[in-house]
Amino acid sequence: MMAVATRWVKHFEEGNASMKQLLGGKGANLAEMTSLGLLIPPGFTITTEACVSYYTSAQRFPEGLDDEMADALQALEAKKGQGFGDPENPLLVSVRSGAVVSMPGMMDTILNLGLNDETVEGLAKLSGNRRFAYDSYRRFMQMFGDVVLGLESLQFETLIEQMKRTNGFKEDQDVTAEGWEQLIDNYKALILRHTGSPFPQEVKHQLRLAVEAVFKSWNHSRAKVYRRAYNIPDDLGTAVNVQSMVFGNTGNDSGTGVMFTRNPSTGENVLYGEYLTNAQGEDVVAGIRTPKPISQLAEEKPAVFNQLVNVSRQLEAHYKDMQDIEFTIEKDRLFLLQTRNGKRTAQASVKIAVDMVKEGLITKADAIGRIEPMHLDQLLHRTLDEEASLDVIAVGLPASPGAAVGQVVFDADTAEEWANDGKQVILVRSETTPEDIHGVIKAEGVLTSRGGMTSHAAVVARGMGKSCVCGCDAISINNAERTFTAGKFEVKQGDWISIDGSTGRVFLGTVELKNPEMSQELTELLEMADSIRRLKVYTNADTPEDAAKAREFGAEGIGLCRTEHMFMSADRLPVVQRMIMADSIQERKAALADILPMQQGDFVGLFEAMNGLPVTIRLLDPPLHEFLPELAELQEELRKLPAGAEKEPLEKMIRKVKSLHESNPMLGLRGCRLGLLYPEIYIMQIEAIFLAAKACIAKGVSVIPDIMIPLVGHPNELAMFRTSINELADNLLGVDKEKCRYKVGTMIEVPRAALVADQIAKHADFFSFGTNDLTQMTYGYSRDDAEGKFLHSYLEQGILPNNPFQVLDQDGVGRLMEWAVTDGRKVNAALKTGICGEHGGEKHSIFFCHRIGLDYVSCSPYRVPFARIAAAQAALSTEAQPAGE
Ligand code: ADP
Ligand code: MG
Ligand code: MG
Repeated sequence: MMAVATRWVKHFEEGNASMKQLLGGKGANLAEMTSLGLLIPPGFTITTEACVSYYTSAQRFPEGLDDEMADALQALEAKKGQGFGDPENPLLVSVRSGAVVSMPGMMDTILNLGLNDETVEGLAKLSGNRRFAYDSYRRFMQMFGDVVLGLESLQFETLIEQMKRTNGFKEDQDVTAEGWEQLIDNYKALILRHTGSPFPQEVKHQLRLAVEAVFKSWNHSRAKVYRRAYNIPDDLGTAVNVQSMVFGNTGNDSGTGVMFTRNPSTGENVLYGEYLTNAQGEDVVAGIRTPKPISQLAEEKPAVFNQLVNVSRQLEAHYKDMQDIEFTIEKDRLFLLQTRNGKRTAQASVKIAVDMVKEGLITKADAIGRIEPMHLDQLLHRTLDEEASLDVIAVGLPASPGAAVGQVVFDADTAEEWANDGKQVILVRSETTPEDIHGVIKAEGVLTSRGGMTSHAAVVARGMGKSCVCGCDAISINNAERTFTAGKFEVKQGDWISIDGSTGRVFLGTVELKNPEMSQELTELLEMADSIRRLKVYTNADTPEDAAKAREFGAEGIGLCRTEHMFMSADRLPVVQRMIMADSIQERKAALADILPMQQGDFVGLFEAMNGLPVTIRLLDPPLHEFLPELAELQEELRKLPAGAEKEPLEKMIRKVKSLHESNPMLGLRGCRLGLLYPEIYIMQIEAIFLAAKACIAKGVSVIPDIMIPLVGHPNELAMFRTSINELADNLLGVDKEKCRYKVGTMIEVPRAALVADQIAKHADFFSFGTNDLTQMTYGYSRDDAEGKFLHSYLEQGILPNNPFQVLDQDGVGRLMEWAVTDGRKVNAALKTGICGEHGGEKHSIFFCHRIGLDYVSCSPYRVPFARIAAAQAALSTEAQPAGE
C-alpha cells in the first residue's frame, strides 16, 4: 500500500484546512470536510510544491511524483472497490485545479477521466444507463480536448449543435444514447484531424496529461490577469485534486448545484443558490441552461434540501463564515465537492459580519478583522436616484448591487481599450467567461443576457464590487452588428446605458445617481470598530455640506479645511482678483474688507456643522497667480478686443500675471511665506475665524478652531503668526476667549519642518502631516509631473512598490513623520498630531499612523467609514503595535 512519507501527494484524510499553502484552498477544504465526516468523494491532492517544482525544473514532473500518483491511485481503487481502466467496474476521477487563493473559473478542471471505448461500456452496463455513460464520455472528451489538447470549446459546441439539428433534438436533455455515441465519433474525428493522433485510450496516460494541463493552466494569460488584479503572487503554483467521481447526470433523481449559505448579494441569512437536475459539473455556472433556484429543491427533494440546510449550518459553525458550496446529488444522495468562504458584496459582508456577531458565531474583533475596507467603497457608492424619470428597457437578475452608467461595448478587448482611453463602459455579453476578465476589470458594470445568479459574470462582478445585471433574456445581442435590442429599442456600441445591479433594471441613456446612505448594519459595524480603534478619524471638508456628510459618517472633527476653495466661486473670484490687483496696501485692505464677511460666513457654517468638534482651518496656501487667468488666455483676450475698446485693465492684469510668474511656483511664494509678505491676508482670515467663533458662541454653538499655518519650515515663521493670532484673539473674543479654546499649529509638509520639529513644537499646539507636499518634497517629485511622466514606468519596472502619493512611503516620508512626532512630543507632551494628506484614507498608511502613535487621521468624507474600520484593524493587528508597547 501507500509509502510512509509521501512528498508530493496527500490523501484527503491526511490534510486539513490549515494546509492551504500546500494543498491549495480546494484541497485543504476537501480534506477538512472529509475529517468532519461529511460525504466527500474520496481522492488525493498533488501539492502546490509539485507544481512549483514543475516550473523550476523546465516543466518536468518532479522526481517521484509518478510513483506517488500510482500508489495513491491504487489506494483510491481499494477504497472505492473499482479499478482505474477496468472495463468491468471502472474508477472515474475528476482532475481539479485548486490554488492557494481561490481564483474562480481561472484554471481548468476535467471530469469523468478514466473513460475510454471500453470503460464507457462498463459504465453503461453497471449503471444500466447507456445514455448517461455516453453523455459522461462526450463531456470528458470535450473537457480533455479543450484543456489538454488545446482545441476550442466552440469546435465541440458546433458539433453538438449539428448533431442535435440532424436528429431533431431540442435540448441537451432530449439527446439519446445514440445521439451521444454519434457525437463521440465526430469528436474523435475532430481530435484526430487537429492533433494528428487519436483520442488517448490509455487511462494512466490520460491522467498524467490532465495533471500536467492543470499545472500549465496556472500560467494561462487569464489566470495571470486575475492574479495581477488581486495581487496574488505568481510563484504560489496550483495544487491538483484527483477525486473519484459522483454523477449528477444519471437521470432526474440526480443533479448538481452551487449554493451559498447566506445571500451573497444582500447578506440575508437564507440559503441561496441554484441547481439543475440531470446535469454535471459546471452546467450550473456555465449559463447554458438557466438553473432553478435552490428553494425549489425544497419542494422537489425535501430530504436532500434538509440535508443541505444542516450541512450549511455545520459548515458555518465550523468555518465561522459564510460558505460557497458545490454539491452533486447522485440518485438522491448528497455529496459535497467544494466549500470555501463565499465571495460577497460589500453590503452582504457587512450584514453577515454583524449578524454573525449577534448569533455568537464570531467576536466583534473577528467581524472587524474580516471586513475588507476597500469593500466599503462599494457601499458608499452612488445608487440610482429613484425620483428621476427612468426609461427601463429590460429587467434581468439583480446579480451585484450598485448602479453603473457607461457606453455599451460587446467584447472584453474593446472594453479594455475604451476604458484605457478614459471612457466609462458597460460590458454587454450573452455570458462572460474567464477569458473576459480583463474587460470586466475595466468596465463600470456588466450586463449579460444569459446565466443565473451564480454565473461567471455574477460571481466575478460581486467579487470586484461591480454592478452586474445577468440573465437578462429580454435583450437580444447581435455581436456581428454590435447592437442589442430590447423590445422596440435598439442599442448600438457606444450608446449610453445605465444598469442597476440591485434591482436588475436596464435603462437607456444615463440616469441620475444618488449619494449613498448608511445602512443599519453598517452603522452597527462601525460602532464595533469605534469600540476597538485608538486613532480618531477626522475629515477634510471645505463646506458645511461636506462637513455634515462626514459627521453623518462618523467624522470626529475637520482635519483640513482648505480656505482657498472658498474664494474660487464666480461671485467671489472678482473680489479676490481685486485684492491681488491692488496697487496699494489701502486698496488691498479695502478688497479684503469685502472678503471678510464672506469668509466669516464660511466659518460660521463649518462651526455649526461641527458643533462641539474641532475644526482645523488652514490659512491661504496657494500662490496668488492661481486666482488669476492664464497669461495666454489674457493675451488672446487682448488680441480679440474690438478696436477702440479700453485695453488698460487687461494690460494691467497681464503685467500682474507676469510679475507673479515664478519658475517653480510649488517652491515659491505660497503658504506662510505669502502670509508673511502680505500679512493683511492672513489677518483677515484670522479675524474671520474669531468673529465667526464669537457669533457662534452667542448662538450656543460650541466652537473649537485649530488654526493651521501652512508650509512652515523655520520655527520663526510659526512664532510670528502665533503672536498675532493671540493678539487678535484677545482683541476680538474678549470675554468669550474662555469659551473658544483655539489651537495654533502647523502642517508638517516641508522636510525641514520635520527635522526641526522640536524647535517648531515650542510654538505649536498641533502638527498635521500634509503628506501630499511632504511626499513631493521628500522625493523631489512634483506630483503632476511624476504621475504624468515617469511614475507609471517606475511602477511597471518595479523601481517603486507603489505610487507614493497613494500609499505612504513609510521608509522615507514615514521616517520623517516618526521623527517629527517623537521630537515634537519631547518638548511639548500635549502636542496633538494627525495626518491630512490623501494617505489619511488609505489602509496601509492608516496602519502606519496608528503605529507611530498619531492622534488622528483625516480623509475625505466618503472615506470616513473606511478609515474607522481600518483604524480598528490597525489596533487589532499585532504587527501594527508601536515598537516597545
Ligand atoms: P472550479 O474551480 O472551476 O469551480 P472545480 O474543480 O470545482 O472547478 O470543478 C468544476 C465542477 O465540477 C464543479 O461543479 C464541481 O462540483 C464538479 N466536480 C468536480 N469534481 C467532481 C467529482 N469528483 N464528481 C462530481 N462533480 C465534480
Ligand atoms: Mg473550472
Ligand atoms: Mg469549484
